[in-house]
Amino acid sequence: MSIVSKFGGTSMGDGPCMLRSAQLAKKQKSSLVVVSATSGTTNQLIALGKCAESDSWDKAEEIIRKIESKHLEIAKALGCDQKILSRVQSLLTEMKSLAYGIHLLKDCSDKAMDALMSFGERLSSELFVTAMETTYSTESKRPKIEWLDARKFVITDDQYGKAKPLTEKIIQQCQSLQDFKNGKSVGVTQGFIGGTESGHTTTLGRGGSDYSAAIFAEGIGADVLEIWTDVPGIATTDPRIVPEAHPIAEISFTEASELATFGAKVLHPATLLPALRKNIPVFVGSSFDSAQQGTWVRLKVTNQPLVRAIAIRKKQVLVTLTSAEMLHSHGFLLRIFNVFSENKVSIDAITTSEISVAMTLDDSTLLNKNLIRELGEIAEVHVEEGLALVSVIGNNINHTPGLAKNIFESIVDINVRMICLGASKHNFCFLVKEDQAELAVKKLHKKFC
Ligand code: ASP
Ligand code: MG
Repeated sequence: MSIVSKFGGTSMGDGPCMLRSAQLAKKQKSSLVVVSATSGTTNQLIALGKCAESDSWDKAEEIIRKIESKHLEIAKALGCDQKILSRVQSLLTEMKSLAYGIHLLKDCSDKAMDALMSFGERLSSELFVTAMETTYSTESKRPKIEWLDARKFVITDDQYGKAKPLTEKIIQQCQSLQDFKNGKSVGVTQGFIGGTESGHTTTLGRGGSDYSAAIFAEGIGADVLEIWTDVPGIATTDPRIVPEAHPIAEISFTEASELATFGAKVLHPATLLPALRKNIPVFVGSSFDSAQQGTWVRLKVTNQPLVRAIAIRKKQVLVTLTSAEMLHSHGFLLRIFNVFSENKVSIDAITTSEISVAMTLDDSTLLNKNLIRELGEIAEVHVEEGLALVSVIGNNINHTPGLAKNIFESIVDINVRMICLGASKHNFCFLVKEDQAELAVKKLHKKFC
C-alpha cells in the first residue's frame, strides 16, 4: 500500500509542528510527503516581491530578515546538521538576490513572483527532511529520507501564477519514483511549485499544495492520498460561521469538488481531478489531532443524503450582458464564451433569458480590463459587486420535489439575486448580497444539516 501525505502550512508552522507531522507520516507509512511553506511564508514572499518592486530596499530587507529568522529558528529547534543548514543558507541567499534583482528592475513579473514564492516550499521541505530523519532515527531498519525537487516532476505550462500541470509528462517523470513504494526510501518534496519543460519555476495558484499532492499520487500510482491540515476533515459548513458545523465522515468526489469550488477552503478545488482520474481515495484530517475521524472522499459512498453541506463563496460579482442581437439569433453565447476563454477567466454560475446573460465571476477578474472592454464590444455590460454565492450541496438535488420550496422558505427575508438549479445533481446555488450570505448559510445549515 503506498500513501502520499500532504502537510499544510500550519502543520509545518514550527519545529514541534514539523516533528508532529513527521511522526504522523511515519505512523501512516507514507511513501512520499508533500509539504507547504511554513504558515504565513507565501504571504510574506508576495509582500516581498511587491515591496522590492515599488518601495525602498530597506522595507524589503525587513521582510527578508523575518523570513530568514523564522526558518533559522526552526532549523535550530530541529537540530539540523551542517549539510541542511548550508542548503537553507544558500536558499536564503538566492531568495535575497532574486528580490534584489526585482528591486533593480522595478519589475516583479508573474514569472519572477513564482520564482520568489517557490522559496517558501523549498525552505520548508529542506527543514522537514531533518524532522523525518529525527523521527525515524530510533528505528533499526529505517528508510532513506530523500529530498526531491518537485520542479523536476510537476511539469507545467508557462501560465505563471496559475500553471497547468502536463499530466502525461508528469507521469513519465514520476516513473523514477517507483522505488518509494517499496518502503526503502521516503520522499520529501514541495507542494505548490512546478517547472516548465525548459526548467522555469512555476506555481499552481494559491493553496495549490493539495493539488500537487494529488498530482504526485497520480504520478506514482498511490493507493491513498492524505491531506493533513489544521481542521478535522471537511465540515458541513464553515465552522467560523456556524459553530455547530461538524466533519463529514464520507463524501463523494463529485460532491467534494462542488464543495471545494463553491467555497469550502479545506481543499484546493483542482485536487480531486487527478484523484478522480485514478480513483485514489482521499483522506482529509487534522495533523494536530490525527485520532479524530476526518473525512474520506471516495468515488462511491454508502450514504447519499439529499443535503450534505452548505458552501459559501464570497467576493463574487454579477456581470449581466444585454443585447437585442440575442433575440432569435444563434452563436451569441459562443462569442461571449470566446471572450472569456481568450482572457482565461472562468465563470462560476450562469443564467440566460432571451436577450441577456448573467454570470458570476470572482471579483478579482474585474482587474482584467481587457475582459470587460471586449465584452462591451458585444453587448451592454452591467456589473454588480459585493455579492456571494451560497450553495446547497448534496445528492439528487435536481430531482427532488419540494427542495427549492424548503430552501427559499428558510430564507424568506433575504433577497435572492440569481439562482442556478438543474445543471447538477449535486449543487443548488444562489446569489445574495455578501452581507446577508452568512445569515443564509446559518439558516440553511439549521434546516438541512
Ligand atoms: N504555500 C502556498 C500558499 O500558501 C501553497 C499551499 O500552501 O497550498 O498558497
Ligand atoms: Mg490549503
